[in-house]
Amino acid sequence: MSPPSLIQSTAPVSHPAPIALSYELFPPRNEAAATALWNTIRELESTNPDYVAVTYGANGSNRDTAVDLLDRLLTETSLRPLAHLTCVGNTADELAGTISTLLERGVRGILALRGDLPGNAPAEPRPGALNYAQDLIELIRRVEQRRSALLCAGKVAIGVAAYPARHPESPSEEHDIEVLLAKQRSGADFAITQVFFHPGHYSNLVARARRAGVTIPIIPGLMPLTSLRRVLRLGDMTGVAPEPALLDALGRAGDAAESRRIGVAATVDLARAALDAGAPGIHLYTFNEHAAALDVLDKLQLLRPAAVPPAARGLVTA
Ligand code: FAD
Repeated sequence: MSPPSLIQSTAPVSHPAPIALSYELFPPRNEAAATALWNTIRELESTNPDYVAVTYGANGSNRDTAVDLLDRLLTETSLRPLAHLTCVGNTADELAGTISTLLERGVRGILALRGDLPGNAPAEPRPGALNYAQDLIELIRRVEQRRSALLCAGKVAIGVAAYPARHPESPSEEHDIEVLLAKQRSGADFAITQVFFHPGHYSNLVARARRAGVTIPIIPGLMPLTSLRRVLRLGDMTGVAPEPALLDALGRAGDAAESRRIGVAATVDLARAALDAGAPGIHLYTFNEHAAALDVLDKLQLLRPAAVPPAARGLVTA
């Protein structure tokens, strides 16, 4: 007979988990953009997010600026970075080098992506290049295993992309769910969604994913929809059609302040619908601007843990 367990595995958990909060930033392209970005970073830091995602150019086009930004976030702020990494056009060896660099700098979260195919994609893919995000997840897990002693046997949190509306290259929404399930089986811990414009898209994705056996958290990615130009561009880039009523309202807005009010209200509606459908967090695509993101947050009144003052965390501020 085995000894009685000291752990009550069925003990009820009475504290609801707070809603996770995260932002996406992209590495600055010049000095002026860097100054504006750091102002945004300080504003966002005051909201005590769980992590801040840093994008990565397909094919590693901005590798050095992305690593620099991750470095500064780790050493100069209280923020935990999530490094995006794309595999398109890169070999396993090249990517293993980048993963090792990220881990050495202290990154412990990676969003494993394929990246968008270049418009003028060569007919023959580069020999040895990885094809899919799933290949990258498996590679990250292999690098992690080789470095388990250095990581104190810890794990790297791996996120992946999920699509509330069909991925433009995918034959069907069912195929998208099979891909998400395959990414989970390969070791993904959570997913962040592509932008969506209709409240039903997120709940629909989660319902289909759960039916298929996807159990990882699926976090809705939301863009403050405050600029008609940006909404249209994003619709083109992602293949997701924006709601005509939103386009109409933004088109009729008299000035930037009215656009912002309309866009923030639409984003808050999408966020509330996602939270009502059980979303475990909110991920805001900021475009390196904090004002609209903070407006959205203000209106959402999320249940968040209190911020720990820097001194209590042993952080020395300049
Ligand atoms: P995958 O999951 O590999 O899917 C790509 C395509 O291949 C899909 O059509 C899928 O259905 C198909 N597929 C996948 N696996 C298989 C398989 N085994 N067999 C057959 N078909 C398969 N792009 C950037 O360049 N940089 C970024 O920083 C970035 N950040 C992003 C963040 C988020 C939250 C999201 C949602 C997207 C982001 N993207 C970024 C865009 C992303 O790179 C593109 O959407 C890209 O086209 C697909 O990436 P993926 O990781 O979903 O690829």
